[in-house]
Amino acid sequence: MISLEAVTKRFGQQDVFTNIDLSLERGEIIVIIGPSGTGKSTLLRCINFLERPESGRITVGDVSVDAQQASRADILKLRRRTAFVFQNYGLFANKTALENISEGMIVVDKMPKEQAHARAREILERIGLSDKADAYPAALSGGQQQRVGIGRAMAANADVILFDEPTSSLDPQWVDEVLSLMKQLAAEQQTMMIVTHEMQFARDVADRVIFMDEGQIIEQAPPEELFTAPKDPRTQRFLRKIL
Ligand code: ADP
Ligand code: MG
Repeated sequence: MISLEAVTKRFGQQDVFTNIDLSLERGEIIVIIGPSGTGKSTLLRCINFLERPESGRITVGDVSVDAQQASRADILKLRRRTAFVFQNYGLFANKTALENISEGMIVVDKMPKEQAHARAREILERIGLSDKADAYPAALSGGQQQRVGIGRAMAANADVILFDEPTSSLDPQWVDEVLSLMKQLAAEQQTMMIVTHEMQFARDVADRVIFMDEGQIIEQAPPEELFTAPKDPRTQRFLRKIL
């Protein structure tokens, strides 16, 4: 469904990661944990070429792109198979909740405006924000803004939703409503890759937890296994610090 094969990313002289391999099945939910500066965000961003890897192959559904040969058209195709939820929501400030959710359907999918708005209203209902269709981001709480961010990702109808610390910018009182929306998606078997520090959430929803350190996948296992019996000393040390 999704695979990264021998993906290598550098920034200038710095190797963020070298020859990373990873694959996910349809419906699988993986949570990536690890110290900051380890390459978790860069890994997610390489999947849709928000960062261009130096080498390697990325496959999402029926789109497979070799980093060294990727054309603009390939990259656009790959992006349409993925959706991204950002730490800082990434909403258009001058568009309403409804417009933020429908924008991609109109611009990218070329859906007629009325149809896109109807679909956006369905999504607003699913994310519990029907009454905020016409609100601009500034009039929404952080939790509501991030739910719109997730709604926009849902609208993309992507093969996978990539979440980069979706609750890290939120005031604590908004975290649960965002996590419960993500749990709802998990229950619907939406394929997701999630970078987060919310360990209880990882225990509850992840099929697999990946521990990354210094640009390497050190260990991966189902949460009950990784959290209770981590094998690698680096995983043990990290978990001792945060649990
Ligand atoms: P994490 O998400 O695990 O905290 P990142 O993927 O953000 O880690 O960063 C991994 C490494 O790459 C860090 O050393 C960071 O400073 C570096 N890095 C990330 N983005 C850039 C960039 N756009 N330009 C240069 N270096 C970057
Ligand atoms: Mg990060």
